[in-house]
Amino acid sequence: MTGVLTLLLGAGIVGLYGHRPLLWLADRRVDPTVLLTGWVLLTVGLVGSTVAMIGLLALPADDHPATGFFRLAGGCWTAVAAGTMPGWRQAFAAISVALTLIIVTRLSFVTAARLRLRSQQAPHVRQLLLLAAGAPSDAPLWVDDDRAMAMSIGGRPGLILMTEGLRRQLPPDAVEATLEHERAHLRGHHHVLVSVVETMAAALPWCPLLRAAPAATKDLIELAADAQAARRCGPEAVQTALRLLTGHPNPPLGLAMANRLTEVRMNRLHGRERGTSHLLRWAGCAAMTVGALALPLATGWLGMNIVGCVVT
Ligand SMILES: [Zn+2]
Repeated sequence: MTGVLTLLLGAGIVGLYGHRPLLWLADRRVDPTVLLTGWVLLTVGLVGSTVAMIGLLALPADDHPATGFFRLAGGCWTAVAAGTMPGWRQAFAAISVALTLIIVTRLSFVTAARLRLRSQQAPHVRQLLLLAAGAPSDAPLWVDDDRAMAMSIGGRPGLILMTEGLRRQLPPDAVEATLEHERAHLRGHHHVLVSVVETMAAALPWCPLLRAAPAATKDLIELAADAQAARRCGPEAVQTALRLLTGHPNPPLGLAMANRLTEVRMNRLHGRERGTSHLLRWAGCAAMTVGALALPLATGWLGMNIVGCVVT
């Protein structure tokens, strides 16, 4: 139990202060893909580890060390049924089970609400996919509209929508940069990442790390998509697209091109991070993965020890 309580203390520190090092690194212009990796893994890892740790607290493994999950579960059930567990331990287990149920129930409710909203939008998306049928998956569907707009809709397959107004009002290199920006959103599964962190923040809004994650993730996916578009089309083309699209209306679905942080993004395209090499980015992502997964891995190791999968 001491191990689980120590890890729970670690989870508490990550939940309260885990966002600070990531924001500090963002201020130092660390590559957005590296930071995105950190935010998503840290938030998902924190929620998963916390649920697992609270669940492990309900198991009175110290009282009857058993090997194997089923024997441990049987031993726990026998101890509870025979009334041999101390009262404080039973209360502890009851609180653990209640907390686990609260977290899982809240996550389920928020997920169900998001799925309902998605199913309401599904007919519109299906019509757009029908219009785009037969075209390559990364080719845009051109919509006859005078406003200059571009957006991507996640899913299988994803979809990029661009208006004729955009083609008329932007120079060709800026149109291409806009298209690359939206392709980067689809390739990076950015819609899924935003959806995951928004779900956890809505379900568990008391946690500062989870509360900060949606805004940070939305900013970082724009910076990451800009960087990818700049690598393929040049930073000047992306800047032109951002400048000309800012102020135009944003569609209610999907991820638009110029919806956030225009000023910061324009400045970042001048910055040194656009030169981050592929190798350096992968190394940064690997280092961030190791750091962000330390808590889930420790939880998994401890859990396997408790249920006897490792010690048998
Ligand atoms: Zn975007």
